Amino acid sequence: MQCYNASCATPTTGTAPQTFASALQFFAAAQCLITEGSIPNSNVYNYAIFDFIIVGAGTAGSVLANRLSKVPDWNILLIEAGDDAPIESDIPGLYPSLFGSRFDWKYLTAYNGITNGANINGTINWPRGKMMGGCSNINAMIYVRGNDQDYQNWYNAGNTEWSVEDGFRISSYWYKNPYQSSKYDSFQNNEWLFRKNGVATM
Ligand SMILES: Cc1cc2nc3c(=O)[nH]c(=O)nc-3n(C[C@H](O)[C@H](O)[C@H](O)COP(=O)(O)OP(=O)(O)OC[C@H]3O[C@@H](n4cnc5c(N)ncnc54)[C@H](O)[C@@H]3O)c2cc1C
Repeated sequence: MQCYNASCATPTTGTAPQTFASALQFFAAAQCLITEGSIPNSNVYNYAIFDFIIVGAGTAGSVLANRLSKVPDWNILLIEAGDDAPIESDIPGLYPSLFGSRFDWKYLTAYNGITNGANINGTINWPRGKMMGGCSNINAMIYVRGNDQDYQNWYNAGNTEWSVEDGFRISSYWYKNPYQSSKYDSFQNNEWLFRKNGVATM
């Protein structure tokens, strides 16, 4: 271990600053002791047979795999192009540090001759998560419930399964999202908005 070797105004044998430096290093390393990878076993054997193959372990793909795995007889393969998500993805406010990293697909928008004219080549970064959890691990963590009118519009366009009128089907999916913050207890206890112990953590 390398120790911080700044000259001290106070006389010291070096033991105290070395102890403090060791303690700081220990706490910095502690995150590695208390976290574990999200992929317990990613070995896929030759000629394995699957009932479902889901490409992309992002926001939707992960939940889909979770739901399908509730049927014990089904064998599900979930394929992800990226790696485990980094710890920064769990810390609100640090998501921009993932932009341009190996956890980002690093897309650029195409120049259309109208927008982003002030930028080099008329394009801007278009971050997309390339990791377990996909964009849910690079996003700003703002939770927005869908607008009823949008669902109604889809219903009016002929998609009868999106009915807000009968309410139950759409609501039953929202209820699977538990809002896990005591600060929002008034929302959490609102049975129409949220229920508890669902599959996705908010
Ligand atoms: C910067 C940013 C901020 C955002 N902020 C918010 C917010 O605050 N609140 C909010 O509600 N929404 C936010 N969003 C939007 C939201 O995160 C996304 O709409 C949502 O996560 C998309 O989910 P998805 O399942 O469609 O795709 P993704 O979560 O992107 O999943 C797609 C997955 O497929 C993988 N993949 C792609 N191609 C392949 C391949 N060929 N083989 C294997 N794997 C592949 C990708 O690596 C990725 O993991 C934000 C998005 C971004 C980018």
